[in-house]
Amino acid sequence: MTEKLTVSQRQRLVELDAQEDVLAKEFENSGQRDLFYKAIEIELAKKNKEKILSLLNEGHQPLSCEIENRLINWLTKEEGYSQVVTPIIISEAMLEKMTITSEHPLSNQVFWLDSKKCLRPMLAPNLYTLMRDLYKIAKQPVKIFEAGPCFRKETQGAQHMNEFTMLNMVELASVEEGKQMERLTQLAHSSMKAIGIEHYEIEITPSEVYGETLDIVVGDLELASGAYGPHVLDDKWGIFDTWVGIGFGIERIAMAMAEYKNIKRVGRSLSYIDGARLNV
Ligand code: ATP
Ligand code: MG
Repeated sequence: MTEKLTVSQRQRLVELDAQEDVLAKEFENSGQRDLFYKAIEIELAKKNKEKILSLLNEGHQPLSCEIENRLINWLTKEEGYSQVVTPIIISEAMLEKMTITSEHPLSNQVFWLDSKKCLRPMLAPNLYTLMRDLYKIAKQPVKIFEAGPCFRKETQGAQHMNEFTMLNMVELASVEEGKQMERLTQLAHSSMKAIGIEHYEIEITPSEVYGETLDIVVGDLELASGAYGPHVLDDKWGIFDTWVGIGFGIERIAMAMAEYKNIKRVGRSLSYIDGARLNV
């Protein structure tokens, strides 16, 4: 007879970020199993504690915030982008203009505050509005980005959270027609370089309605999605020039860099801090 870790032992070790080979271990009897569990639990708790101390005494910033800062520095100091800060509470009308009406897959994922207002599931509506207004004033290419919380009701897998941080960058009238995918690809590579990620894939998907899209992926994890215009939605927003944009999931990037199996380690949390479990 072989014994495996009990459900609660397993759960505790997962919290402490045990590797797959530890979780899959088999034992001749429950006594051996419990001895192993005790030892590994102590070892992993110690590692988590060391990580917390290193944050408090040395790093002073969780990886997710550092990633956000690296992207912000790259955009503002190297790419001529300006940061914008827009409302987290948006109107139903804004969602409708994105065609997120009841038939759209995202519509079931929206957190409504009342019949007319919701928590933004994406930054695109606000950025569409601002880039149009700024373009009217400046009459020159407009490059803006926002980094902030977005909210989607998710069925809670290891890669999704109900609240997450998106950094969405967009540039309007910056490239000539036909050059959008080239620019998007260039931005995708530069962003990964700015963050310090070397191993990633770029996946380009043709879509009849939305034109080509570009995803940056690491294994089966999507870090970011990019798109470009002219786009079917542009008219509604008063946009008539080319644009390219990418939305990055900050916690997804942190998860990939730290090689965590669950995104919750790096999300907004009172149980984890910078990937380390607090009850150690
Ligand atoms: P997925 O297909 O993985 O659910 P998506 O394509 O719906 O993601 P996008 O709308 O492209 O997501 O959003 C841009 C980025 O935001 C994604 O590439 C991902 O990194 C991140 N993201 C989206 N939804 C979530 C979520 N629920 N939790 C954490 N990050 C998310
Ligand atoms: Mg996507």
